[in-house]
Amino acid sequence: MSTPKRTERVTPASSETLLTMLETLPGALFVVDDTETIVYANASAQAMLGATPEAYLGSSFWRCATPLVSIALYQAVRKTRQTRTLTEVQYVSPVTQSWLHVHLASTVGGLMLQFHQMRAPAPRQETFPQGERLCINDLDGLQTGIGLLTPEGIVLDINAVPLDDAQVRREEVIGKPLAETSWWSFAPASQERLRAAIARASRGETVRFEALVRPREGMLLSFESVITPHMDANYHVEYLVIAGIDITTRKRAERDIHALIDAIPQLVWTGRPDGYVDSYNQRWRDYTGLSTEEAQGEGWMQCTHPQDRQRVLETWQRAVQNGEPYETEQRLRHGTTGEYRWFLMQATPYTDAQGTILKYIGTCTDIHDKKRAEAELRSLIDAIPQFVWIMRPDGSAEYANSRWCDYTDMTSQQYQGDGWLQAIHPDDRQRVLAGWQSAVQAGRPYEAEQRLRNGITGDYRWFLARGAPFKDAQGTILKYFGTSTDIDEQKQAEQKIKASEENLRVLAEMVPQLVWTKRPDGQFAYTNQRWRDYTGSTLEQLQSDQWAHLQFLHPDDHKGNRAHWLHALDTGDMFEYEQRLRNAHTGEYRWFLVRAMPVRDEVGQIVKWFGTSTDIDEQKRIEEALRQSQERASVLMNSNIIGIFADEREQIVDANDTFLRMTGYTREDLCEGRINWMQMTPPEYLASTQQAHQELAAQRSVTYEKEYICKDGSRLPVLAGGVALPHSPCKRIVFVLDNSARKELEQRKDDFISMASHELRNPLTAFKMQTQLARKRLERQSHHEAATALSRVEGPVKQLERLIGELLDVSKIQAGRLEYVWETVDLDALLQDITDTMQQTHPSHTIMVRGTVGTSLIGDRDRLGQVFINLISNAIKYSPDAETVEVDLSASEDAVTVHVRDHGLGIPREQCDKIFERFYRATDPRQRAIPGLGMGLYIVAEIVKGHGGTITVDSEAGKGSTFTVTLPRKRDT
Ligand code: ADP
Repeated sequence: MSTPKRTERVTPASSETLLTMLETLPGALFVVDDTETIVYANASAQAMLGATPEAYLGSSFWRCATPLVSIALYQAVRKTRQTRTLTEVQYVSPVTQSWLHVHLASTVGGLMLQFHQMRAPAPRQETFPQGERLCINDLDGLQTGIGLLTPEGIVLDINAVPLDDAQVRREEVIGKPLAETSWWSFAPASQERLRAAIARASRGETVRFEALVRPREGMLLSFESVITPHMDANYHVEYLVIAGIDITTRKRAERDIHALIDAIPQLVWTGRPDGYVDSYNQRWRDYTGLSTEEAQGEGWMQCTHPQDRQRVLETWQRAVQNGEPYETEQRLRHGTTGEYRWFLMQATPYTDAQGTILKYIGTCTDIHDKKRAEAELRSLIDAIPQFVWIMRPDGSAEYANSRWCDYTDMTSQQYQGDGWLQAIHPDDRQRVLAGWQSAVQAGRPYEAEQRLRNGITGDYRWFLARGAPFKDAQGTILKYFGTSTDIDEQKQAEQKIKASEENLRVLAEMVPQLVWTKRPDGQFAYTNQRWRDYTGSTLEQLQSDQWAHLQFLHPDDHKGNRAHWLHALDTGDMFEYEQRLRNAHTGEYRWFLVRAMPVRDEVGQIVKWFGTSTDIDEQKRIEEALRQSQERASVLMNSNIIGIFADEREQIVDANDTFLRMTGYTREDLCEGRINWMQMTPPEYLASTQQAHQELAAQRSVTYEKEYICKDGSRLPVLAGGVALPHSPCKRIVFVLDNSARKELEQRKDDFISMASHELRNPLTAFKMQTQLARKRLERQSHHEAATALSRVEGPVKQLERLIGELLDVSKIQAGRLEYVWETVDLDALLQDITDTMQQTHPSHTIMVRGTVGTSLIGDRDRLGQVFINLISNAIKYSPDAETVEVDLSASEDAVTVHVRDHGLGIPREQCDKIFERFYRATDPRQRAIPGLGMGLYIVAEIVKGHGGTITVDSEAGKGSTFTVTLPRKRDT
């Protein structure tokens, strides 16, 4: 107590005077020091307080001068201390309800307060703002306890509600520290809470707290109190307003709720409308290991994962501000294990009938396992080499896996809603959306091919998107779960196939065949124009059923075609069948070779049949002709009349049975290459055979006679005809006819001729001699007439002689026994002799000899004479209407040449070679009318050959012939 120190400032002399003066002052006067402790009170003041000086001197003015205390006075005291000017205030005492007028003056180290009782003031003297006139008792209607406190907690005023509860008078309370009043003093805990709240409020903070109060014995209430500081113009706390409401009923209800909440097997908490989390249930506390007190307000942050704190707090505050439900996911730490688990935090505002939020009721649902499963599923989804997505029925995206995000280079924020459409190729968007809408409307799965943009390269790739609807119990589509698979390569391959199919189609239309394709079931899928033109049908007509094409086939081919197709479809083997197809325009059937190959996919499945029908009608005809000719050839080959062999050079490589039979060889001989025609040919036939072969090479075919030496050494005369194979001249086919019968006949004929000519010649010679003798005798006996008559026999006898001579020559030639007498022959002289003689005997023609040989040669004079006589006599004989026969002689260094030319009948060209054959005569009737036996030229040719020369004829029918004989000048004898 500092009272003595303060009184020392007044001198004793003056003090006395001053005190007397003060005592006499009207009204109550108080002097207080800086701590508002009463240091002096005059008599009026003592009377006003009704207490002795011991009771108030040195005590707090506010505690001792209870009947005077009011908020107005308190404000005036503070103002005076601050301004140090004279202040006055008038107010109604909260205790006495009487009007007081107070003058306040600042003194050294304190204040002087002078009180006057008064009646109600004149309105003009009003010194307080309107609001200050409101009496605290006016607030009693609120059923709220309200008090005004100094920043130290001393009650300046209090309304009737708490006074009634406590059954105390106002003056018993005013001026006392609130904490020491009966409401609070009963429990140190409540007292402590109040003091702490007052301390915080006096620092400028509005403080809310709950505490138990006991207004009187037996009355215990739960109070929710708010202390609000009142600031002056300089923001200094002037006084405090404390308001308290009875929340006992609410608390009880809350307790009940908490008991209920504690029974819920979930973590539950409640929050105030301002976001202050005020309670947690037992389970929550058990899990987190935190008490309600520890977790109250924002204390729950302690058990929230540090990484989640900021986000979760912001979400909670946002929900509270907007009065909306709260929902988020966060990790909560387990109090004992320290492990964090994921929880779904949800809170719903609980409102009164007016919609005012009273509380938030929150729950925490353990979703840790679900989260982990989700995370596992997510990593599984991310591992899928496809895009996985979830779409809402309205076409907005909800989720896309990271593969999708990586490819499109989009974040989950970017693809959300309809953002995903940006990744779709602009040309595909409309189609994709339309497909989506129709799938949703029909409630069916969604499927579409679409191009997706690679967000990094900007390239587009083809994807197949597939989604399945996920429906609730009512069948309403909630979501679509889908995947997108990269089908770009497949698509490109398809496009390539399409292009190559297009090429194939062009090709199919170009080729001269009927081209078509069938589906794996055998139905026609495509036919080229040629097919349609030929059959006169459309593709649709063919597609009526699998066997529709049979209508174009020859009835005899139906069964085979069907059987072949069934086999091919069954086994996948190539289809190949020859069948007749009807030409729609001509109605005729033509043969076609039908072939079809199965086309398989990469797994070997048949995807189509590719077929062609090739017109083989011509080929078929040729084949048939060939078959017939082969048949004929084989008849020929197998006939036992004609022997046939094929040879290559000297070797006989093939032969029919007849040839083998004719020559006595076996098939083994043939197979082992033991038949050699050179060895089979007798030496005398070698030359002619080789010549025949040369002719064969030149003319492709030749006929000649020869003999073969059979296996047993015997000789077989044959007539051989050779044909050279067109492309390999050294290969020949030789036909062999057994000529032995004819040869034998010929031999017999030759034998007969030989015999007959000999048999005729002897009697004729005898006859000639006898005739000559008889003529000579008649001549001698001068029977001239008889002699002349007899001489007429000589001509025919000569003719007969010549005939027989020729016959003999022929037989000699045949027997190879024509002999020559070699001598030097002067051909000019010989020809001159002959022509002279013949001119005499043949006066009908002029024989003209032109040129000379000018040399002699070695030959048989008679035989050469025989040659030219024969040629000249033929020239005369076969030119009955001509007048001349010309003989031209010429010579070269090596040979002499004689031409005998006539202008007669001539010889047809094709017979020119044959006239040198034995007994051959030209067939022309005019020639036939001229007598002859066809031996002359045979002998001539043989004699010329015997002289090493040649004879040829050049003739034209009706114009004449020229025979040319060429003889070598020198010859080896
Ligand atoms: P022939 O005794 O029949 O005359 P040749 O051997 O002399 O027999 O002649 C054979 C055939 O040749 C004759 O039958 C004749 O038809 C024809 N012939 C020969 N020489 C001539 C010729 N100068 N003019 C026309 N035909 C001829």
